[in-house]
Order: sequence, then structure tokens, then C-alpha cells
Amino acid sequence: MQGLMMDMPLLITDLIRHADRHHGSVEIVSKTVEGPNPDGSGAIHRYTYREAHTRARRLAKALKALGIGMSERVATLAWNGFRHFEIYYAVAGSGAVIHTINPRLFPDQIVYMANHAEDKLVFFDLTFAPLIEKLAPQLKTVKGYVAMTDRAHMPKIGVPNLLCYEELLAAQDDAFDWPSFDERTAACLCYTSGTTGNPKGALYAHRSTILHAYAAALPDALNLSARDVMLPVVPMFHVNAWGLPYSCALTGTKLVFPGQHFDGKSLHELFEAEGVTLSAGVPTVWLGLLNYMKEQKLRFSALRAVVIGGSACPPAMIRSFQEEYGVQVLHAWGMTEMSPLGTVSTLKAKHLKMDKEARYAVQNKQGRVIFGVDTKIVGQDGRELPRDGKAFGDLHVRGPWVIESYYKGEGGDPLKDGWFPTGDVATIDPDGYVQITDRSKDVIKSGGEWISSIDLENIAVAHPAIAEAAVIGVKHPKWDERPIVVAVKKAGQEVTRDELLKYFEGRVAKWWLPDDVVFVKELPHTATGKLSKLNLRQQLKDYKLPAA
Ligand code: ADP
Repeated sequence: MQGLMMDMPLLITDLIRHADRHHGSVEIVSKTVEGPNPDGSGAIHRYTYREAHTRARRLAKALKALGIGMSERVATLAWNGFRHFEIYYAVAGSGAVIHTINPRLFPDQIVYMANHAEDKLVFFDLTFAPLIEKLAPQLKTVKGYVAMTDRAHMPKIGVPNLLCYEELLAAQDDAFDWPSFDERTAACLCYTSGTTGNPKGALYAHRSTILHAYAAALPDALNLSARDVMLPVVPMFHVNAWGLPYSCALTGTKLVFPGQHFDGKSLHELFEAEGVTLSAGVPTVWLGLLNYMKEQKLRFSALRAVVIGGSACPPAMIRSFQEEYGVQVLHAWGMTEMSPLGTVSTLKAKHLKMDKEARYAVQNKQGRVIFGVDTKIVGQDGRELPRDGKAFGDLHVRGPWVIESYYKGEGGDPLKDGWFPTGDVATIDPDGYVQITDRSKDVIKSGGEWISSIDLENIAVAHPAIAEAAVIGVKHPKWDERPIVVAVKKAGQEVTRDELLKYFEGRVAKWWLPDDVVFVKELPHTATGKLSKLNLRQQLKDYKLPAA
């Protein structure tokens, strides 16, 4: 016997419809790329969910007029801003697929992805006009380019069929009913950054996006509410800004979009001006903000929590936010193939009675799964390992917003017995907290055992003179690999190689102690702001371990 409840498809347009009807006057504030600063940034645009919904409907009509059909791909090269938000809803809401392109990738990769996705239209922020002009001749399927601006700011570039966003909208009214279709219809396409091989596409459905949006909003996940003001620093071109444009509409959270400037000064000013209570981004962004705050002796007046993920959040950063600024850190883990949220580290009741250090030990982990995601760790023989917080193995996941297959079947079947192998190495403790010890390709294999590069990096950056550190394995004749630290000193701070090596003593097992330290001016990062160990290994290819 089946249940007798309505079978309504879970569609992305329901989010914006809900936000309009129930949070219609809640603001969406954007720092735009047009005027009035000399560098072309800085003007603040302000409107409401109701107006966003009206304009998204007009854009949906414009897309139809341009001949965009069901499931056709529409690309964006854009910062976090109100027009990008409208495109999110208009494209997916029409039944087409929004393909968000990371503009920080190499031009060759962008060309590959746009051709692979067979994008029909490309929407772009003015910042990217020169890039578009350069790439256009190679984009084989694109029928038109839409500059996300008004007539007065239109760029003078030579691309075929250059259109003006505001003119497209002006030509339409908002008398439009969102279509209804199967909730499993594709909605958004995000490519993994493809550090090895070509990028692969993760294709989210309406259903997976809505379920993810629900789960992300939960109190022990990102804890969003109609009393909050969220500033997503994580770009809308990186896994849909971790789903925040959806979750915030679901909860009626005010949104503040930072545009193109993520430096400490720009962020702090916007946090204060808009009363931001919540934010989300990768550790490197917070490093910049915290340094600036310290230099300028500034405070946050409304910020209550920051979500930090994308790479391991150093414990020193969690302490700094919580003890010096009274801001709670939500350490989160996920990946493009998971829409992206998997776990968030929030405490359980029993932890509240524990001392501060025990609570930090919990927060330093990547956290517990949010309902919907299932995890397990497996050993090299493929057998499941115990959830004892000690055994570490390959982390496998499954759930309704976890990938089943890459776009166009690329790379064959990615699943193993119905689970997705994440490529991360982790422990899971009896309370379900996952701790990522490494990416499997970064783990250091020494004498048949594994050394966690993340653990060693966390220790290095806890040293007061170290700004950023990467730990990599270097070939060793006897032990296979040995860890070395590649570190960047804080401006005006000094520490010697031997002092830093000594700092590790007593903090890890003896055989985990790094063999050497190399100081560098800066470390290479990927297009998503993570340490690029691939590039680092290339840079250090002639490096030799000191003789024992
Ligand atoms: P990319 O940045 O390469 O496009 P993703 O954003 O999907 O890809 O990266 C996902 C990976 O980032 C995870 O598999 C994991 O290795 C790493 N990661 C994400 N969050 C964390 C975290 N909190 N701690 C450690 N590693 C993390």
C-alpha cells in the first residue's frame, strides 16, 4: 500500500517562490563590479527577494525568447552578485541547466568545459569581458554572450551576438508561470577542478539540490534562519557557493554578496555595514581577514559564526575566531561530487560538560554527517574499518545528493558497491565525527605506515611565526617517503629551521617528526583556494633531503 500524500516534485523555483511570498521584503545586497571606485568596483545594489523573483521570471522569459530549451546548458562567468542569483533561478527554473564556470581556471580548461558542456549562452560579469573576447573564437556551441550590466556599462569587445542583460530584462514582463517537471531533471553543472586529467562534471538535479538545501539549513549544519544575514565568500562558481543561494531562500536569510573583492578590508567593511551574522569560505580567505583585523585592531559587531571548509581549518584559526573575536567556527567538509556538504563539526550535549581542550578536539575534526549522507571508511583490502577514531582508511559516502555518475559518463562508473570513494583518507569516531587526515594522493607513506600531512600542517601554523604551511612527502631510500614542511613566515616574524622542527617534538609521534623545513615567500594555490601540492612538488622536484 502506498501513502496517500501529494506527490509534488521538489523544484528549485519553489525556493524563490517561497522566499518571495514569505520573506518578500528581506534584502539581497550586492557589491557590484560597476562604479563608483576607480577600479570599477564598489557600488552597492540593494533589493528584495520579491524583486529578485520578479526579475528571475523576466529573465526566464528572455531565455525562452533566445531559444533556450529544456536541459540546454547556460554558462556563467561571474562573481557573487544579484544578477548571478537571478540567473541561478531563471535558468534552472526554466528547466535548463546552469553551468557555473570558475574563472580562475586556466583558459584552456575553461574552453574544454564550455565545449564539453555544449554551452549555448554565456553570461559574464564585466571583469571577465577581456577573457570572453579571448576565448569566444574557441567556444564552438555558444550562440550568444550576455554582459551582466546595463547599456551604459556595455563592454566594447568583439564577440558574436553580444547582448545586454538589463536590455534583455527590459524587453520582458513578469507574467510567467514556472513550469513543472520531473524533480530528477538536471539543474546545475559544476566541474571538478581537474588537478589531474580533464575536469569532470557533477550534474545536480532539482531534487538533490532541494534536499541538500534543507539539510544544510539545519541547526547542527549551517544553522540558517530568518534572523540571519549571510555573506557567502565562497564563490557562486564554486559548487554553488556551497548551496547558500538555495538554503538562504529556503530560510528567508538576508543575503550579502561581496562581488570581486575578498581582501580583509573589503570583507570587514561589508560585514559591519550590513550586520552580517554568518559567513562561509575557505581558510585562506579567513587568514587574510584575521590578519587585517589584528593589524587594525578591529572587532565584529554582529558576526556570530563562520563556516570554514574546502580544506582543513587549522585549529589555531578556530581558536582565534572563538577566543579573540567571539565568533563560532563551523568546520565543514564536502566536495563537488557531494553538492557539496557532507559533515559539519558541531558539539553534542555531552561535549558541553567537557573542558575547553576536549571541545576543541571535537571542533578540529571535520564533523558529523548531516542527515542524508552516510559514511564509512575502508582499508586497502576494501573491508570496512572500525569507527573507533583511530583506524584510518578511504572515506566512502552515499546519499541523495552524492554523485552517481559524471556528466556524459566520463571516467566510467565512479561507485564501488554503491558507495562513492571520496579520495580522502579519514577516521570516524564512535560519535560519528569524521576527521580527514589527508587526500589519498597527499598522504605520506613512511615505513609502511601513513603520516597525516594535515596534522603536521596544523602544528606548523600553530607556531606564532608561521602564516601558512604545506607538508609533503619526499622520496627516502629507506623509509619510502619522509615528511618535510614548506612554510611561509608571517610578515616581520622570525623562526629558524631548527626552531620550527623542535616545535613538533612532543606534539606528534617521533616517527612523524618532519625531516626538514623549507621557507618560501608564498605557496601555490589551486583555482578554489587550496594548497596545490601538485605544483609544490613540481617546484621542489630538485629538492634533496638533508643527509641523516
Ligand atoms: P576542488 O576544490 O578540487 O574543485 P572540491 O571543492 O570538491 O574540489 O574539493 C573537495 C576536497 O577538498 C575534499 O575531497 C577534501 O580533500 C578537501 N576538503 C574539503 N573540506 C575539507 C576540510 N574541512 N578538511 C580537509 N579537507 C577538506
